[in-house]
Amino acid sequence: MNGWRRLLRPAYGPGTVSGFGDGEMRQRAVVLVAFSMTRDAMVAALMVAVTETSPGMDVDRLPDAEVRRLVEERAALEGTPGLDRGEAWLRESQTELDDKEYVLLQACFRAVNRAYPVDAFGTVLLSGSPLRPSLRCTVSGCGWSRPEGVLEQLLLEGVEHGQTHAGGER
Ligand SMILES: [Zn+2]
Repeated sequence: MNGWRRLLRPAYGPGTVSGFGDGEMRQRAVVLVAFSMTRDAMVAALMVAVTETSPGMDVDRLPDAEVRRLVEERAALEGTPGLDRGEAWLRESQTELDDKEYVLLQACFRAVNRAYPVDAFGTVLLSGSPLRPSLRCTVSGCGWSRPEGVLEQLLLEGVEHGQTHAGGER
């Protein structure tokens, strides 16, 4: 029954109130809704938002808060079914994108990684310094860690260890 609590990832936002306009007189309440999103769904949401609002936008220069606002607004607009469709679209059409779309997609991946750090998506945290990287598991009571080692090997071990904690979606 408590399983879902352990699997929940860090929450972001809300950074905006969707659907609220100046002079809105009928407003009775602001309802907070939380969406559980995969990275692919966030990337797809950002890409659609950018394509629709300002295709020439330099996504790499967007502040993190703005990236989150765009993703959040798209989530509010499309809801869970729309986010699922976006994720499916991303999986299926990556090879069919033209050059411009591909460049934009890569920028959206970078922006989502920046605004929603990858660390937050797993149980294993990368720390230390570039020369002496280390890993530790953030699950309370686990205690797993690798104090130092070759980065590639560490990351591999980290991914493997992360999978030992159930629910290891990306
Ligand atoms: Zn662990």
